[in-house]
Amino acid sequence: MRVLITRSLMLLVATAMIASNLSVNNSAMSNETTNNPAENPLLARWEGPFGGVPPFDRVQVPLFKPALEAAMAEQLAEIDRIAKNPAAPDFENTIAALERAGSTLDRVRTLYGVWAATMANPEFQAVQREMAPRLAAFSDQITQNEALFKRIDTIYNSPAKSQLKPEQQRVTWLYYTNFVRAGARLKPEAKARLSQINQQLAGLFTKFSQNVLAEETDQFIVLKSEDELAGLPQSVRDAAAAAAETKKQPGTWVIMNTRSSIDPFLTYSDRRDLREKAWRMFVNRGDNGGEHDNNAIITEILQLRAERAKLLGYQTHAHWRLENSMAQTPERAMELMEAVWKPAVARVHEEVADMQALADKEGGRIKIEPWDYRYYMEKVRKAKYDLDQNEIKPYLQLEKLREGIFWVAGELFNFNFTPVTNVPVAHTDIRVWEVTDKTTKRHIGLWYFDPYARAGKRSGAWMNAYRAQERINGEITTIVSNNSNFVKGKPGEPVLISWDDATTMFHEFGHALHGLNSNVTYPSVSGTSVPRDYVEFPSQLLEHWLSTPQVLQRFALHYQTGKPIPQELVDKIMRSATFNQGFATVEYLSAALVDMKLHLAGDKKIDPDAFERETLAELGMPKEIVMRHRTPQFLHVFGSDGYSAGYYSYLWSDVITADAFGAFTEGKGPYDRAVAERLRKFVFSVGNTVDPADAYRSFRGRDPKIDALMKKRGFAAKS
Ligand SMILES: [Zn+2]
Repeated sequence: MRVLITRSLMLLVATAMIASNLSVNNSAMSNETTNNPAENPLLARWEGPFGGVPPFDRVQVPLFKPALEAAMAEQLAEIDRIAKNPAAPDFENTIAALERAGSTLDRVRTLYGVWAATMANPEFQAVQREMAPRLAAFSDQITQNEALFKRIDTIYNSPAKSQLKPEQQRVTWLYYTNFVRAGARLKPEAKARLSQINQQLAGLFTKFSQNVLAEETDQFIVLKSEDELAGLPQSVRDAAAAAAETKKQPGTWVIMNTRSSIDPFLTYSDRRDLREKAWRMFVNRGDNGGEHDNNAIITEILQLRAERAKLLGYQTHAHWRLENSMAQTPERAMELMEAVWKPAVARVHEEVADMQALADKEGGRIKIEPWDYRYYMEKVRKAKYDLDQNEIKPYLQLEKLREGIFWVAGELFNFNFTPVTNVPVAHTDIRVWEVTDKTTKRHIGLWYFDPYARAGKRSGAWMNAYRAQERINGEITTIVSNNSNFVKGKPGEPVLISWDDATTMFHEFGHALHGLNSNVTYPSVSGTSVPRDYVEFPSQLLEHWLSTPQVLQRFALHYQTGKPIPQELVDKIMRSATFNQGFATVEYLSAALVDMKLHLAGDKKIDPDAFERETLAELGMPKEIVMRHRTPQFLHVFGSDGYSAGYYSYLWSDVITADAFGAFTEGKGPYDRAVAERLRKFVFSVGNTVDPADAYRSFRGRDPKIDALMKKRGFAAKS
């Protein structure tokens, strides 16, 4: 679950995204007719209600390249004016001016990002391959502008800085440190090499992502008989039948090579041979030799990252990446991961023993293998807690839960949601709501909801900020979206989702609320623009509200009877909350550890397969589990720089999350207004205007402790 932040400070990295097949009209346009706002609607200011909205109805793929080119040129001209300003540098004429620059490119990149993530087709992918290195080079042109950096350096080191408002001082520090970290102080030859590296990386990230997508699209398993469907519940059969239609395999059932298709199959299929086949297909994405193999690309990415870190004066890529994170050093991140690793592995051995005992009782004479884990886990869940996931689903209607998250936002932040129909959307499945303050009726922002899977949309769930709140030239309000990949039901039928999916829905909505609560002046420190190991905290925190009785009684209603989920069933869910945490933690943590170790290895030439195998052996990885993302398909790490040496962030944030929820339980409970107000004031509204560690201390009165996390995952010492 990644946050896509379209306005990233200095646009340091062009995020490579994943795309898939979709055919659209190919209308040819030439550059001459499409690089001015009058002719290219992507360049125009956003018009319409709410201070303007994205013109999704006017997007055509051939418009992207000329729009990006024109917007980059415009921003470079703006930067040039700032750099060459004859007036002595001060905050207003340099830092604030930089904050005002690039608004056209921000707008174009928002649309570009939406197309990359949700509307991509081969035509768009070709644009991405061409533009990714150019966008990277463009970022370097700004951070390597010597006259500009000189001005920033002067302001940062001037005694007048202490006269600035705290938020202005923070923004100044961010510019200074980001420029330095991007090589502003390097000699010309080093700068040139750095820019070369960044462009090469941007190209490799795009290739890596497109390779994973190709293997997810091209590979699938066709089931042809009742015998091959053995064990699959109706919902899984329906999804497989729908997939068969899209794969032009009428009369069959198709298991796609994506997590949302594979995980349920591994959970329910009685056919051990097919489980193994499906498992192998999924874990080998990007690792099959041939044109879509990612191993050589990974070696190259790691070499380039190591060289870049050295150029910039850092020991390794991991040290460079973590410098401005909350963890600050790879050592601190490793310390946390190692503290959790051993208890998690110990729990896995217990889980496997439970599964093996059950398998032995069935008399199948099997030894638990990775493709058996989810299958027997589900059986143990039933045996231990009398809990069947399929029993919960009828109470989890997508639209009711959406009302549930709105209600929670109303209780915690006094937000009200009203449907809006007068704004354009990228696809007819997308709906929009206006967010206002319940009491004052003040307009707060817009929330776009894009819930269903479709061709051209990447898998998973995420939040995307279309426009960040700011008030540098008067109030600009937030526009955010939540995106997921539910299978659209038949007309008039409610979409039923799993408990995990419901949790994810609350999670992504947490990111949205982080954006909507933003109350800052400068755009680069707005909303979710916080360090990566802090950004998952607000979202993970929101997950806790799903299981509150207030939500379940009002919104977890049976789709046929309308009756709320029985307390007895809720009790079972709660009792089983720490069930299988060994698996979930080890699956995640092994990937996080491999990510960190790959980026601590320096410029050693790495064979990804061997490195993964050896590292896992050293760690004592249980052989019944595979990394959640194996190296050749690890998009978080090799699809961009985004989560590289940063996959630990989810655990880091979860320490904070578990500790923070304690503030509610120690108070009057999850709906304690006073605690919610502190949460808004010190966490959800401040963006990156204050150091996250300080912000958290203001909220909680102390630093986060690890105890709550260990308890949440069931690893605490049993008393
Ligand atoms: Zn998230």
